[in-house]
Amino acid sequence: MTTNTLAAVLRAPDARFAFEQVTLGELGPHDVLVRIVGVGFCHTDVMPRGMAAHALPAILGHEGSGVVTEVGDEVSHVRLGDAVVLSFASCGECGQCLKGTPAYCVNFLALNMSGRDMFGGTSATDGAGTPLQNRWFGQSSFAEYCIVNERSAVVVDPDLPIELMGPLGCGIQTGAGAVLNEMDLQPGQSIAVFGAGAVGLSAVMAAKVAGAADIVAIDLHQSRLDLALELGATRVVLASEKRLVDRILGDSDGLDFALDTTGVSAVMESAIEVVGAGGEIVLLGASVDGLALHPTTLTGKRVTYVLEGGADPQRFIPLLIEHWQAGRFPFDRLVATYRFEDIDVAEAEARTGEAIKPVLLVGSR
Ligand SMILES: [Zn+2]
Ligand SMILES: [Zn+2]
Repeated sequence: MTTNTLAAVLRAPDARFAFEQVTLGELGPHDVLVRIVGVGFCHTDVMPRGMAAHALPAILGHEGSGVVTEVGDEVSHVRLGDAVVLSFASCGECGQCLKGTPAYCVNFLALNMSGRDMFGGTSATDGAGTPLQNRWFGQSSFAEYCIVNERSAVVVDPDLPIELMGPLGCGIQTGAGAVLNEMDLQPGQSIAVFGAGAVGLSAVMAAKVAGAADIVAIDLHQSRLDLALELGATRVVLASEKRLVDRILGDSDGLDFALDTTGVSAVMESAIEVVGAGGEIVLLGASVDGLALHPTTLTGKRVTYVLEGGADPQRFIPLLIEHWQAGRFPFDRLVATYRFEDIDVAEAEARTGEAIKPVLLVGSR
């Protein structure tokens, strides 16, 4: 059965989102149809604006949450009526997927960044019958309905405020997972978090959950640093301050961990500098900036680039919800809600930093 749905379509890199009636094709055997209740706006959603025109027209959105309204013939772990949080796509068949690290699925780029499925296909068409890309991060959830593979659908308690939960599937998982999965930060250790947006603040909250003794947040905006202090940072440093590295180090001669969420070369260099021997630097910023370093800068240090917090969403999202329910991980404090039709406002306020994590309210429960 095909499905008609309202969707926010991006047709050109500099265009506004266009609200259109589109048709979603039939479900594949492992697909589910989800009626979207809420969807976060992630910075990655603006990436197609900088990409070649062949990536468009597309339905974007990849922090959706909602209710399952139809399931494919071979779907096994999701049922009709389930409340679900949607996350990134993975193939389920490669070595990384089989060992439980789907964030490093060998098909990650093809499945998440192309807007197409693994076979290069799309299943949505506009009013004129022209194909629209509808598998952005496997979901394309800036719409009233979207199709995802069941691997991307994490079943959650229907009594939760699921309209706010979508960002757990990308931005929040990315920051928290960097700390809890990749660093495996231990009680008493220290961390510097560069960038206090949704990803960085999620890392700050996760570092507090893990029992870090020294959590330093660095950002250009004092308002974000104030929020970082409320969420668990023990110290904050304005990025514009002189002798930045010294300020971040404080009394320490080297921190255990640094996380860069900015992708800016100079910031990544500072992140490497503040970590001591035996420590680890995690980079995750999506940018085109590179790093040119003398190898001795890395003496005794480890550097890694992390996707999606290295998380398996099926295990990690329920864990984050548990922390939230226990009052240890108040991610909802990052959220500002918008009506679906105000998606352009949400995008603008995400870009300026006025909103930390916009969530579009698409449909009722
Ligand atoms: Zn895979
Ligand atoms: Zn994202």
